Amino acid sequence: MRYPKRLSVLFGCLTALAISTTAQASYTQTRYPIVLAHGMLGFDSILGIDYWYGIPAALRRDGARVYVTQVSQLDTSEARGEQLLRQVEEIVAISGKPKVNLIGHSHGGPTVRYVAAVRPDLVASVTSVGAPHKGSKTADFIRNVPPGSAGETILAGIVNGLGGLINFLSGGDRMTTQNALGTLESLNSEGAARFNQRFPQGIPTTACGEGAYQVNGVRYYSWSGTSPLTNVLDISDGFLGATSLTFGFEANDGLVGRCSSRMGMVIRDNYRMNHLDEVNQVFGLTSIFETSPVSVYRQHANRLKNAGL
Ligand code: CA
Repeated sequence: MRYPKRLSVLFGCLTALAISTTAQASYTQTRYPIVLAHGMLGFDSILGIDYWYGIPAALRRDGARVYVTQVSQLDTSEARGEQLLRQVEEIVAISGKPKVNLIGHSHGGPTVRYVAAVRPDLVASVTSVGAPHKGSKTADFIRNVPPGSAGETILAGIVNGLGGLINFLSGGDRMTTQNALGTLESLNSEGAARFNQRFPQGIPTTACGEGAYQVNGVRYYSWSGTSPLTNVLDISDGFLGATSLTFGFEANDGLVGRCSSRMGMVIRDNYRMNHLDEVNQVFGLTSIFETSPVSVYRQHANRLKNAGL
């Protein structure tokens, strides 16, 4: 009589295991494809290295369909948004799904908001990660270079050259234009305020509140970090530590202030992450005292799935 009892316990365990494995296998299986949109000087991949380091593979492993897009490394939110919109239209045609879940990092945030504002019928959700919706103090600092000056021309030339190089290395469209001054125009506080007037969807109406959770049938979410220095082995921490000084006492991720990142439903605005940790860079070097950025994306895909998106 002992064996049947043990066997039933064993079968019970196996059934529980099978159920949990099945649940795990579809953990990130959203109804609509996930579309990733990079930030300033970003790309899809260079020499096989993802901008979203390890993130698309982790999302796909448990069921998500993921498309990684590439737009101009440097341009206005509107120009990048138009480029992204063309790609979203293609993805909708290819995938056979009527909508997409957009996720934008940094300048990718305003970029995905643009697409959702002009074509809400194609968008199930918009999520921004470390995005300067109300501008970046770093951009304001750079904007102190007098417009039209030789300094501005030289700086724009250098940055445009860098944008062109990244576009070339990532196999981007050769016709892609680089417009560093357009980026600066979109990411400084005054430019961001003008953009928000035209495209207010999901933007908090108070200085540091939450935005509408749903506008025109589109759900809005955001998260960000507030730790410029997170990993002594990461060469980018020095750069982000320096740029974070432009924020004074305001909590920031090195390039974007905590309040500026808030949009729609704020999932969290103070992860122990800097601006590059938010996309699991460089090469996965992030804080060992924080949830892996990859897990945060997986949890979000699960959140979208549970919301029927
Ligand atoms: Ca890092």
